[in-house]
Amino acid sequence: MNPIRFFRKEPVPKGPSAGELARGRERMVADQIVRRDVEDERVLAALRKVERHRFLDPHQWASAYGDHPLPIGDEQTISQPYIVALMTQALSLQGGERVLEVGTGSGYQTAILAELAGEIFSIELVPRLSERARSILDELGYSDIHLRVGDGRAGWPEQAPFDAILVAAAPREVPEALLAQLIEGGRLVIPVGVLNQELEVHTRHESGFSVTRLAAVRFVPLR
Ligand code: SAH
Repeated sequence: MNPIRFFRKEPVPKGPSAGELARGRERMVADQIVRRDVEDERVLAALRKVERHRFLDPHQWASAYGDHPLPIGDEQTISQPYIVALMTQALSLQGGERVLEVGTGSGYQTAILAELAGEIFSIELVPRLSERARSILDELGYSDIHLRVGDGRAGWPEQAPFDAILVAAAPREVPEALLAQLIEGGRLVIPVGVLNQELEVHTRHESGFSVTRLAAVRFVPLR
């Protein structure tokens, strides 16, 4: 008899299989996103493609495609899939745009943007999160995304202007620097407020900005 058998360890709890994860992702898009008000086919295709679970720790993979945000460390969260979809759709990306993201977090939203636009610039305040996002994005082949550690409220003046800006944390008021870094016709999607937050879309016109409000939301504060 093989003596190794006597030293067998406790069985390791099994995570979801690749097939289960792929089906979870399909169900996420069908149940949480198509059923609500996201119809942009390019956005839906990106959400079907990008493996959200890869941006989470393996012990979270079983809930990676659930209808909720999840913790990613440092008191931060990966946004609810529907909110990622809604914000991305609001940018009306056609392909080829230069996009600024504030709040890289896990890097999941960053990857979705990379699927839909040309060049992505993303700023994160917490160095550890930025490094973690970098390594996951590299592993998944998104190596031409530009990440930077810093305060996103100042935008990224050296790379401005941008066709679109997405902010994933809520300021009390929209930072002027971000509006100033939009091209004419460009859009800024941003949650605004403290306790009662609204997701706002600011569009730059020849003579000023117009604002539309998309939904009541709950984001971590922009620090
Ligand atoms: N889109 C991300 C969500 C991240 S949560 C995802 O899906 O994973 C918001 C992120 O904004 C956090 O990582 C937080 O650290 C970051 N953040 C907060 N204030 C910031 C600031 N002033 N500048 C840049 N990033 C900021």
